Amino acid sequence: MGDMGEDFRAMRDDRNARRAKYGVDCPRCAEVRPRAPASILLPQQRCRVDGYVDPRSELTDEQWNDV
Ligand SMILES: [Zn+2]
Repeated sequence: MGDMGEDFRAMRDDRNARRAKYGVDCPRCAEVRPRAPASILLPQQRCRVDGYVDPRSELTDEQWNDV
């Protein structure tokens, strides 16, 4: 049995780093609900609030792992 807590923490840090590096504020959130914080979208990710899909092409494996 490995240490699940450690694995989970590493995975979460990884996600946060990726969002910080490649994430952008959803432009439609700013129009639809300007007072709420905009969703952070990665390339090709769909905003859960308004359905906007980030038009940038998906991250390459290299970009994905470079966090
Ligand atoms: Zn949005």
